[in-house]
Amino acid sequence: MSQEAFINLEQQYGAHNYKPLDVVLTRGEGVWVWDVDGNRYMDCLSAYSAVNQGHCHPRIMATMIEQARKLTLTSRAFRNDQLGLFYKELCELTNSHKVLPMNSGAEAVETVIKAVRKWGYRVKGVPEEKAEIIVCENNFHGRTITIVGFSTDPTSRDGFGPFTPGFKIIPFGNARDLENAIGPNTVGFLVEPIQGEAGVVIPPPGYLKQVKEICQRNNVVLILDEIQTGLGRTGKLLAEEHEGIEADLTLVGKALSGGFYPVSAVLSNTEVLGVLRPGEHGSTFGGNPLACAIARTALKVLIEENLIANAAEMGTYFLEGLKQISNPKIKEVRGKGLLLAVELYPEAGGARGYCERLMEKGLLCKETHDNIIRFAPPLVITKKQVDWALERIIPVLRS
Ligand SMILES: *Cc1c(COP(=O)(O)O)cnc(C)c1O
Repeated sequence: MSQEAFINLEQQYGAHNYKPLDVVLTRGEGVWVWDVDGNRYMDCLSAYSAVNQGHCHPRIMATMIEQARKLTLTSRAFRNDQLGLFYKELCELTNSHKVLPMNSGAEAVETVIKAVRKWGYRVKGVPEEKAEIIVCENNFHGRTITIVGFSTDPTSRDGFGPFTPGFKIIPFGNARDLENAIGPNTVGFLVEPIQGEAGVVIPPPGYLKQVKEICQRNNVVLILDEIQTGLGRTGKLLAEEHEGIEADLTLVGKALSGGFYPVSAVLSNTEVLGVLRPGEHGSTFGGNPLACAIARTALKVLIEENLIANAAEMGTYFLEGLKQISNPKIKEVRGKGLLLAVELYPEAGGARGYCERLMEKGLLCKETHDNIIRFAPPLVITKKQVDWALERIIPVLRS
């Protein structure tokens, strides 16, 4: 079948809630993917950082096959021999005390909202129905009704109301705004260490440290959504480490499975998760043995193959390369580790055209909003492969 035929099927039978680049992929290995005509591309999106370990990582694949042969799903009505090991290994790695496993990132966000509200009523003493959670402008935390209800992106929220009450929105990047927004009923502050979908927006140095101090002083739970920034992407296991802080609650997902399976988790270093009692929250697939086995190997691969240090080193090198490009249409080049972005001035005619030209050269990137191109290749990328990418990106971004 031709690429066009596959695209037509998607157009005819699928809901049009995405506008993908017209490339039909059929195979992947490491940083590379191939389309159905056999053309090779470097994946510079990594499924929004879900395939940090590279496509079809052989060790994760072997675990998946082996576990699928043994046991895949038990539900949490019974125990399984992977869940406890997954908990222990994830806690030891992230210095957490407790884990609650879910599937998608959005489910982890929903879980944390429930847990923090309950903590507010049971522990902090907030009056029933009054709990308030503070979030930031231009956030991205997923697509459920509650989550899009506190989004400031009209495309994400328009036409989906009525929304869940109990959220207050403040600007991102200034700790004073948080201090001013906290009231007696504030239970949590939910924030991304770097705003990924907003276009790799990096807060000023010291922001997270100040935020942590403010939360602690006001008995407000600090929740970091590290679903995109976590698990090596920014050159640290968790992006919070860049500021030497520890959130009270951390959300991970995406690369937790290396792209093989939806696995997410809420990590807690306080007693917040302790407020949930049997029956109060759950998920049929959350914590299933297949997911746990895959996640355990995905974490081992990150550590044993030194992918976090590689992300730091290759990220710095890639960023330096991007900074060499001189074009008055470029507003800013920024990034941390292998979460990089080039922001164009609105007059440049949009990022989409650049992404299409990069695709013709064998590089898959996706615009975020209209004027930002994100570069986030798998963390297994080598220096030679970064050079290969820059050789293609530089002429396209110069034009
Ligand atoms: C992708 C993402 C989510 C949502 O994850 P899903 O698995 O798509 O539900 C939440 N928060 C952040 C920061 C993300 O990047």
